[in-house]
Amino acid sequence: MAEPLFRRLVLIGIGLIGSSVARIAMQDRTLAAEVVANARTQATLDRVMELGIADRIELDPAKAVLGADCVMLCAPVGAYAALAEAIAPHLAPGCIVTDVGSTKQSVIRDVGPLLPAGVHFVPGHPMAGTEYSGPDSGFLTLFQGRWCMLTPPPGTDEAAVAKIHELWTRCGSMIEVVEAAHHDRVVAIVSHLPHLLAFTICGTADDLEDESRQQVLKFAAAGFRDFTRIAASDPVMWRDIFLNNREALLEMLARFTEDAQAMARAVRWGDGDYISDKILRGRAIRRSLIELKQA
Ligand code: NAP
Repeated sequence: MAEPLFRRLVLIGIGLIGSSVARIAMQDRTLAAEVVANARTQATLDRVMELGIADRIELDPAKAVLGADCVMLCAPVGAYAALAEAIAPHLAPGCIVTDVGSTKQSVIRDVGPLLPAGVHFVPGHPMAGTEYSGPDSGFLTLFQGRWCMLTPPPGTDEAAVAKIHELWTRCGSMIEVVEAAHHDRVVAIVSHLPHLLAFTICGTADDLEDESRQQVLKFAAAGFRDFTRIAASDPVMWRDIFLNNREALLEMLARFTEDAQAMARAVRWGDGDYISDKILRGRAIRRSLIELKQA
């Protein structure tokens, strides 16, 4: 058999994303000869063994990373600094630390300075997900045909970047290497702002008086339902994302608010052309997504 890409792949956090990588690595043994899972709670790790999606489990992150040549952080981004501090002294020289976090400047800020010399750091973000979480929610095809952005800081070892590139290719992803700041602005508009709107609109509906709220639930299929799917996402993960992509998210929210005000003005003054122009632009964006197979 060909030499595996990694001898020991350690996943710190094994929910939707971590357990999907684990499932792929357990099936494609050319990716990693051994898969080790770490999580915050023993119950999660017990479930991982029941599911058979890792070779070994380890509750202590410092012990989990011993002898690893690849460590992938797959926990909420707010936990990264403490995790990096715990694992840093135990990383072997030459080990590649990577991650899947949805914010990238914060990860570089929180993790980078803690890693010892000789350990390579290749931050990444697979642009794939669902509203489900935990080790049961992962699946083999999650990353198939989806983009994965890598944001190696300047000066990162090129061979390390190439190995993480290869890992995501084997997971079925298409890869783009971008600057962390650019990544954060892009995801603020394509992912973080839509989640903020979904959480907000669900709150607005929930604040309605009793009778109207009942009607909202009854007739949700008219559009509201699609927001509720997004709003069902994990609260810790999303709290951490909002707090760690603050600048870009606030900038996109400010732009959106201006545009929403302009739409409100068009509605108030009966400016049908303005309204239909916006709707046509929305339809064009949807068509482009379908053509790019990202719908
Ligand atoms: P998830 O399903 O909620 O799983 C999180 C995992 O992290 C769980 O195994 C949890 O263990 C563990 N964890 C939580 N706090 C921890 C800590 N302090 N130390 C060690 N492990 C800890 O989350 P996910 O959806 O896979 O997301 C993981 C990461 O991927 C996040 O950074 C997120 O931003 C990013 N991401 C998510 C999506 C998405 O759509 N979901 C897409 C792309 C990237 P316990 O259950 O034992 O607490």
